[in-house]
Amino acid sequence: MDVTREIFWNVGNVALIVYILSAIVVFILVYGFYKRVKLWRVGKEEKRGDFIWERVKSVLLFGFGHKKTLNETYPGISHFILFWGFVILFLGTLIIFLQEDVFSPIFNLFFLHGNFYLWFSLILDFSGALAIIGVLLALYRRYVIKPDRLDNIFDDFFSLILILLVLVTGFLTEGARIAATRPDFERWSFFGWHIALLFNPSWIEVASLLVWHKIFWWVHLGLAFLLIGYLGYSKLLHIFSSSLSLFFRSFEPKGKLKPILDIENQESFGVSKVEEFSWRQLLDADACTRCGRCQDICPAYLSEKPLSPKKLIQDLKTNLLLSSKSLKKENPEEKRPHLVGQSISEDELWSCTTCFACQETCPVFVEHLQKVIDLRRYLVLMEAKFPQELTPMFKNLETNYNPWAFGFATRADWTKGLEVKSLSEDNDVEILFWVGCSGSFDDRSKKVSKALVKILRKANINFGILGNEEKCCGEPARRIGNEYLGQILIQQNIEVLKNYGVKKILFTCPHGYNTFKNEYPQFGGEFEVFHHTDFILDLIQKGRLKIEKKINGDLTYHDSCYLGRYNDIYDSPREILKHISDGKIKEMERKREKSFCCGAGGGRMWMEENLGKRINQLRVMEAEKTDAKTIASACPYCLTMLSDGIKEKGLEEKLETKDIAELVASLL
Ligand code: SF4
Ligand code: SF4
Repeated sequence: MDVTREIFWNVGNVALIVYILSAIVVFILVYGFYKRVKLWRVGKEEKRGDFIWERVKSVLLFGFGHKKTLNETYPGISHFILFWGFVILFLGTLIIFLQEDVFSPIFNLFFLHGNFYLWFSLILDFSGALAIIGVLLALYRRYVIKPDRLDNIFDDFFSLILILLVLVTGFLTEGARIAATRPDFERWSFFGWHIALLFNPSWIEVASLLVWHKIFWWVHLGLAFLLIGYLGYSKLLHIFSSSLSLFFRSFEPKGKLKPILDIENQESFGVSKVEEFSWRQLLDADACTRCGRCQDICPAYLSEKPLSPKKLIQDLKTNLLLSSKSLKKENPEEKRPHLVGQSISEDELWSCTTCFACQETCPVFVEHLQKVIDLRRYLVLMEAKFPQELTPMFKNLETNYNPWAFGFATRADWTKGLEVKSLSEDNDVEILFWVGCSGSFDDRSKKVSKALVKILRKANINFGILGNEEKCCGEPARRIGNEYLGQILIQQNIEVLKNYGVKKILFTCPHGYNTFKNEYPQFGGEFEVFHHTDFILDLIQKGRLKIEKKINGDLTYHDSCYLGRYNDIYDSPREILKHISDGKIKEMERKREKSFCCGAGGGRMWMEENLGKRINQLRVMEAEKTDAKTIASACPYCLTMLSDGIKEKGLEEKLETKDIAELVASLL
């Protein structure tokens, strides 16, 4: 007896019907997908056709390999085995089709037998079993564990049940066939073999088995066709849309906002309608699987503010779908909800700290942040709608070149008695120290500037500052949506820096560092930039900075979003701390890529925090749990927010916060 099985066994000569039905359901699927592609294409042009090989790698690594999805064990593994189980079953079906309708009739070649058949059966059974476990795990998580981040709609339930039924009926069909034929080699189809044992001849005759096999076969086929057709119109579409999202992901630096080019000659700014987003931004609406990972990590959501990045993307999708009729040229007047104000509230937009946690964690590279900024740009530049406390901030930036009411001529006052030279006196320096607005005006941050001066002197670094010629780097204005003001400040700074021939710039502020590193080049400002944590570590490692003493007591380190997630600087601060501490570095629960924002980014530093809980307090309480004495940080915003949080929670006796430069300087 040949080790194989007859395709279409027991169901008669139905191949033609099956292929006609297959063609119909594939057409239904493709049509559904085509309609979605058409919808994304109402968006503006955006070039994402470069780095082809990198894009393919993204799909392989993050799609097929589930690299980010597996960062969370339970949902990662359940999705991984479900996905791969189905992929292998699909490949198995394809092999059967090629055997039956291509190789056998055309080349008279029959390969689906013998050892190949045995291994084929084993692998397919194994994959089917894994896929069933994957679905059951997903159902258990959704409907028994019920994590807060998952909102269950009918589509979720129907999709999972449909997949489960396809798998179960597949095994029942196989079991009935094996029970009716009972060849010993079918033990390799171990799952089907055990189901066949249930169809015991003592209670079911072969004639009945044949009828049952036929019923299972047709039900399985019908459900499989339903699943294929449903793919194009349900959440299962993400198999394609998420893959496209991975392929068309951004390879720009993470901390780079898209500029409004030729801003002087633009008539409208930002986005107020879905079609003003780019096609890539609209693709996100369908790529999002509603997994909720972004929501689970969002400081705005976790501090009970009205923003959830997942909901933001879903609201964009709803708006896109509701707008679809009016976007068709034949019905432009069709009523649709306003994107800002109705689909997405202003409070949601102003709640975002631009911490990047949502994007960093999203397994399918949905890009939330540029959307938030585009919508803010519309509010600020077209509608002049923004939290009222930003009015003086904008005015100060225009007149004093800093966000506070300090006169620009007092910018270098912090250097009194320190004899720090400015480039106007002598521009022959190794590096420019960009002090930043906080480092120049904020009392707490001025101490960090002074600490860095001490360190640079100890290491014999020839440095200078711009003094009164330095202006705000433009970052807060850009993140708030005031692109116009941001660009003016950037242009003015670049002009001054170029006049002095500046090549290298050192920052204590990760916001300034990120802006100079990733955004100034958009406007012609190319400089070699350093954050002080990298710079100090380098000085220590090269022996230019000798530290003999140690800090007493345990430390914890708070990752700044703009240093860590935006620029992947996680290790330098920790290395410095290891070098200078004789106590332990006690990590907080949320650290590195998953670190929790201090609450000040995205211009939130200058906005009231009236909604929900205070983010800085949540972070301070997390630090308190470590029992460390000191929260080390490396950002002036974080320093302010954490200092305030410590005071607000009455923890001054127990906890203090210091910039890494201060800790190092205290040992010199
Ligand atoms: S945006 Fe990404 S992380 Fe957030 S729910 Fe959608 S797929 Fe998940
Ligand atoms: S950037 Fe941060 S605050 Fe804004 S939506 Fe994403 S996770 Fe939330």
